[in-house]
Amino acid sequence: MQDRKGGCLCGAVRYVLKSAPRAIAICHCTHCQRQSGSLFSFNLVIREADYDQRGETMVYVDEGDSGQPVYRHFCGSCGSPIFAKTALAPGKVVVKAGTLDSMEGLQPKTEIYTDHAVKWLAPVAGAARFPRNQ
Ligand SMILES: [Zn+2]
Ligand SMILES: [Zn+2]
Repeated sequence: MQDRKGGCLCGAVRYVLKSAPRAIAICHCTHCQRQSGSLFSFNLVIREADYDQRGETMVYVDEGDSGQPVYRHFCGSCGSPIFAKTALAPGKVVVKAGTLDSMEGLQPKTEIYTDHAVKWLAPVAGAARFPRNQ
């Protein structure tokens, strides 16, 4: 597989994913909606060791359902959300797939927090749905 590359809107932050994602999921939670300013986030889970970034991100420390922190990294210049790390899943990085140069070939396998999905949005074909987290 060719390495996937991505970055923020202004180009200050660029990254390379050096392995295939371990999970591909859509998250409809209210925090992802608010952070993205849109309907959901489209996320790739990748090993932290396989995530290579140039440029600095700023961090907003959010809180997940579990009460554990969620570290949401974003570009301080243009505000693009780049990735998140959670205390619950150490060693993993959740990359915001909308920042990839190409999303070709990435099909979500799961949808989580579907309780908060907008009603007019059809379920993604072939994706398992979970009302909250998996
Ligand atoms: Zn930027
Ligand atoms: Zn979410």
